Amino acid sequence: MNPQTLKKSEAASSNHHADIQQLIRQYGCGPVPITGVEHAFYDRHIVFDNVMSPNAVGARERFEAAARSIRDILSQRWIATEETYQREDAKRVYYLSMEFLIGRSLINNITNLLLAQLIPKFAERKDLDWHELLEEEPDAGLGNGGLGRLAACFLDSMATMQIPAMGYGLRYEYGIFKQIIQDGWQKEQPDNWLRRGDPWEVARPHEKVEVSLNCSFEVCGGSLRAVPGKESRLIGVPYDRPIVGFGGKTINTLRLWEAAAHDYFNFEEFSGGDFVGAVAETLEAESLTRVLYPDDSTSKGQGLRFVQEYFLVACSLADLIRRFRQSNDDWNLLPEKAAIQLNDTHPTMSVLELMRILLDDAELSWEKAWDLTQRTLGYTNHTLLPEALEKWPVEWFRALLPRHLEIIYEINGRLLIDVRTRYPGDEEKVQRISLIEEGETQHVRMANLAIVGSHCTNGVAAIHSRLLRTHTVKDLAEMFPERFSNKTNGVTQRRWLQMCNPTLSKLITDAIGDSWVTDLSELEKLRPLAEDRGMQDEFRHAKRCAKVAFADWLHRTTGEVVDPDSIFDCQIKRIHEYKRQLLNALRVLILYRRLRENPTLEMAPRTFFFSGKAAPAYRLAKVIIKFINNLAGTIDGDPLMRGRMKVLFLPDYCVSQAERLIPASDVSNQISTAGFEASGTSNMKFMMNGALTLGTRDGATIEMAEAAGEENFFLFGLTAEQVADSRSYYNPYWHYEHEKETRDALDMIFTNQLSCYEPGAFSPIRDALLSRGDYYMHLADLGSYLEADLLVRELYADPHAWARKALLNVASSGKFSSDRTIAEYAADIWKVEPCPVTFD
Ligand SMILES: *Cc1c(COP(=O)(O)O)cnc(C)c1O
Repeated sequence: MNPQTLKKSEAASSNHHADIQQLIRQYGCGPVPITGVEHAFYDRHIVFDNVMSPNAVGARERFEAAARSIRDILSQRWIATEETYQREDAKRVYYLSMEFLIGRSLINNITNLLLAQLIPKFAERKDLDWHELLEEEPDAGLGNGGLGRLAACFLDSMATMQIPAMGYGLRYEYGIFKQIIQDGWQKEQPDNWLRRGDPWEVARPHEKVEVSLNCSFEVCGGSLRAVPGKESRLIGVPYDRPIVGFGGKTINTLRLWEAAAHDYFNFEEFSGGDFVGAVAETLEAESLTRVLYPDDSTSKGQGLRFVQEYFLVACSLADLIRRFRQSNDDWNLLPEKAAIQLNDTHPTMSVLELMRILLDDAELSWEKAWDLTQRTLGYTNHTLLPEALEKWPVEWFRALLPRHLEIIYEINGRLLIDVRTRYPGDEEKVQRISLIEEGETQHVRMANLAIVGSHCTNGVAAIHSRLLRTHTVKDLAEMFPERFSNKTNGVTQRRWLQMCNPTLSKLITDAIGDSWVTDLSELEKLRPLAEDRGMQDEFRHAKRCAKVAFADWLHRTTGEVVDPDSIFDCQIKRIHEYKRQLLNALRVLILYRRLRENPTLEMAPRTFFFSGKAAPAYRLAKVIIKFINNLAGTIDGDPLMRGRMKVLFLPDYCVSQAERLIPASDVSNQISTAGFEASGTSNMKFMMNGALTLGTRDGATIEMAEAAGEENFFLFGLTAEQVADSRSYYNPYWHYEHEKETRDALDMIFTNQLSCYEPGAFSPIRDALLSRGDYYMHLADLGSYLEADLLVRELYADPHAWARKALLNVASSGKFSSDRTIAEYAADIWKVEPCPVTFD
């Protein structure tokens, strides 16, 4: 390397470190001495991590160097955070989740470390294409959708609020599949996100834990199969990722477990003979954490998933109990030092594993162990869909976890005595409450186990918590009413407003200051400003900037052209019948037919965006994707529609894509059949970003409309009660026969006018909507959807009235911060306090 250049860049970089030091002081990251930062920053990583000249490296190396540099900045603070928790012997929250849908971390960590304003300067000095560098970071897609994203938002809020918390999950080598669209059909490709390593994680092999199973594994037809009876031991190796709280004061840890075979490094055994066999065994054990299950709405016979769930539980509990025992020899203190939250039933084996530890390892009495277990655990329910409630075959427990099955039987025996005492003679109730579901084969009801084995069960929106209590688990809620509560979901405004929507964020901060970043209720201060014409114009300008930015990105990466002056009308979420993308597509089809029949019809230009993945085995969901794509193609091919209407299915929905599209949206479609969406969280992201909601009275959308005032929402359709009450007589044919627009649209589909190259491709849609009775009641809500849509278009014709409502929505979105949700969990369920990082 030219010494001249080296000198120059050193000078530039020491100047730059002064900037960082000053910023860190200014924002009160505390007295952390960032020693060695002069050497630690960017260039060091470029040169010494790669042993390459800075001129020779590519964008990927530049991303890695940037990420490593940011990790350097937070490392000492990260260590100090853990040391503080140990010194204070603070009560900790352990958030157990099979999914963490993290997305990208670089820009998020920079934002939360308050380094964002430094970046343009830095990039300029280094002559870096910053946007190209950011695009090099793959999404950490370790989740399917809302449940996994909620876990990620919670980690952000807990770190920001300085709560001693740790996330526990699995380090899937392959995250949620990449979706590509071929001839309109979804195709799945593996997401090998770790192929080039991950610059954020730190492997901690010395903190590995051992898990015993009464089974081993064999590869069978290319996939892994559990073989019962042959005892084996797995090793869980933790990989830690930093979770940066806003302001950089607290750096919490997300600990992800990777499965390795026992005696991974036992070369003696290898050399002893069956080298190939030993290597094969290693490979098999490792593949336990190879891949995330890509389905969030059914739970069928997946033996490997069962073992994955136990592996998460066994590793995490061994780890947290070890930590507890390092500073406590009194087991009675466990509930005062640890609060374990189960994100859905996936980690419910925690009830059994904790009982096993307290009974067999700690040698406590049943009563003592049970009391400690219940007081330590909390359970969050996420769904009312019966097919999503987990039930594992008793036989699997018998074969793989026989000791845990004994514990299940003992819990159940005591539970049912209690039921019979309280409700003498009511054997049907006994059957409904029992942890064991009888039938051709017996199953363990994991939701019942979670409710019985914990002190708190919560739903994720008011309507969901109510339906959970009054329908889904009615008997248990009547028996233990004090255990049930609601914690309405939220999202972190750091990622979902500040980071992803810089223009709107600046407008808000200029108007009311920046305290909304850590206290979203501050947005209330925008309410009076919504009436101000100047503010309305500035909002419209901010929205247009976001739309242009999105249109530019789309054009750059796909060549697709969209008009930023058209209404951006979005529905982005997993593809599922209950979420009713099909209802949206029928609306679009009817609007299209109206325009075609009456080309002089006044209708503001509109772009309809769809995005979302279908579970690979969910046939109808894949047909719906194909249908949307064919509809898009038909409209695209119609010259009459040019400049008036466009439909786009954006492939590969993921966190990064949501961050790009949500700020640019005018209309948010939240149109699930009422009573089916537990909460929804994309509804909240849209609201914060000033989109207006066109939606049904379901999930948290109900509370959003309450906060903003129904007059500022476009609500339509049957309520959950009406859905339930009309089910017995609901007849989709009635709508087909009596509603001309509905009939004409459906006939167009049924006569292959949208599938002339694949006739019959959409017959599953006919089956679902007519012959199978339209379980999700699309046709019941289509008429009122179109009426509400008309109101949307009328309002859009008055730009200031639109901006006013959008601003009122932003002003009312304060409740939907995950900071508020976490404050409620902390106070009501976990009883934890913040523990600010201090130094010895
Ligand atoms: C927020 C989010 C979700 C949840 O969306 P819903 O519309 O609430 O189902 C799913 N996936 C991603 C990538 C998200 O960011």
